[in-house]
Amino acid sequence: MKTLQNFIGGTWEDSQSSAMQDLVNPASENVIARHPGGSPADVDRAVDAAVEAQPEWAALPVAERVKYLIEWAAVIAEHAEELAELECQEMGKPIALGRSFIEGGIQGFRVAAEEALTYPFAVTLPGADGSETTILRHPLGATAVITPWNFPVPMVLGALGPLLAAGNTVVVKPSERSPLSTARLFELSTLPPGVVNLVLGDARAGAPLVEHKQIRLVHFTGSVDAGRRVGADTGGRLCRSILELGGKDPVVVDAGVDPVATAAAVAFGSFVNTGQICTSMERIYVHQDIAEAFVAALVEAAATYTLGDGRDAETVLGPLVDAGQRDIVHRHVTDAVERGARVRIGGGIPNRKGFFYPATVLTDVDDTMLVMTEETFGPIAPVVVVSSFEEGLARAGSSRFALGATVYTHNSDHAAAATGIPAGVTWINQWQGGGPERLYEPAGESGMGATGARAAYDAATRPATIHTAPTPS
Ligand code: NAD
Repeated sequence: MKTLQNFIGGTWEDSQSSAMQDLVNPASENVIARHPGGSPADVDRAVDAAVEAQPEWAALPVAERVKYLIEWAAVIAEHAEELAELECQEMGKPIALGRSFIEGGIQGFRVAAEEALTYPFAVTLPGADGSETTILRHPLGATAVITPWNFPVPMVLGALGPLLAAGNTVVVKPSERSPLSTARLFELSTLPPGVVNLVLGDARAGAPLVEHKQIRLVHFTGSVDAGRRVGADTGGRLCRSILELGGKDPVVVDAGVDPVATAAAVAFGSFVNTGQICTSMERIYVHQDIAEAFVAALVEAAATYTLGDGRDAETVLGPLVDAGQRDIVHRHVTDAVERGARVRIGGGIPNRKGFFYPATVLTDVDDTMLVMTEETFGPIAPVVVVSSFEEGLARAGSSRFALGATVYTHNSDHAAAATGIPAGVTWINQWQGGGPERLYEPAGESGMGATGARAAYDAATRPATIHTAPTPS
């Protein structure tokens, strides 16, 4: 069985602590690897390596750094299938699905890195009196990236591109539930030693990394609870943070749309990746005029989400990441049923090995049930029938979370009204639409800090103004 190590200053090394953890395949429940539990000593070593490597990395011309990153992207692309297989083993994602997201992640990494070639790292503005003002964008130094398990490789790549291209070095702490694919990603690194470093473990590695005085920015993606602690720790020592946290995304389905096609789209938004996406559709408000046809089509679509091991080509729905996650999902369904919801399909733990849960459609749901108030992170589609589009919109905007929102409507006034939903991104008539140029900041308890396009470079750099007085004549 494989025992994973940390990657520090270009060298693989054992953890300084003897605390190890088992990694369990969620489809078979077999232990597939052992990995470090995490320790402050590991973090110290990784941060030291990142600090030492940073001046030389930052001194390279931007084009040279971008070249390094594009070379790494090419090597990763050659191993996309292998990385997808590792993701499948560690967190259950069907291989074809994993591969498509990894390929998207590599493309996003390339685009984000190349953005550095046109990013204004130095802008000089002439003053009316002959003076000159130059605004420089300096890298921050050694930075930290902490990721969850739902898209292991794309999450790491998504954060790394702008940080590295801007001249920062990075210590990555992936989720303890998905370290295999990230470790392989680092084995494929073509970057100079110390530019990227990997520390494995849970909060025993995450917390000391966040608290480390030499870390100048923490890019954290994960739950609201852990994000709050990260925000408090970084805020306390005046360190920057980007917090991309949980969601409870709504979808509003207006009268007048095709109920069958929209139900298929909503099934995908609710069930893909077994519902383990921060922007999964978790609250569905459907107009009463099409509710019956919509629910019937949603149930029919749910029946096509075949459960199974992600290695099997016919599997559409892999397992949940672990037993704890399945317990949360089942608790939300049970709470809803106890309080009057109807299970239209799914809704029970299958009698088989693995942490599976079927695609589930609930109706007769109200906004007080756990399944409508807490992040479920599972393949559950809770449907609420509303009497008007306006009611759907108002209820969509009433959550403490505010990550994304989706609206299906053919009414242009309704589409315009939807732009007021409090969310970092609102998709109209296409969930997950938009390219890498999108600018995005979660709202509410879903986090803070803008990413995407140039905002990622603004966050990865520190502006400094140099004012030069006119030369005396
Ligand atoms: P989690 O908060 O349990 O863990 C996320 C990461 O933080 C892991 O690497 C974990 O080890 C680490 N961590 C935990 N406690 C920490 C602490 N005190 N200090 C530092 N690091 C700590 O979340 P998870 O269960 O791995 O992931 C699922 C969550 O992530 C969901 O809430 C989901 O919505 C969210 N998520 C958000 C986005 C987004 O872009 N907003 C994307 C994907 C996932």
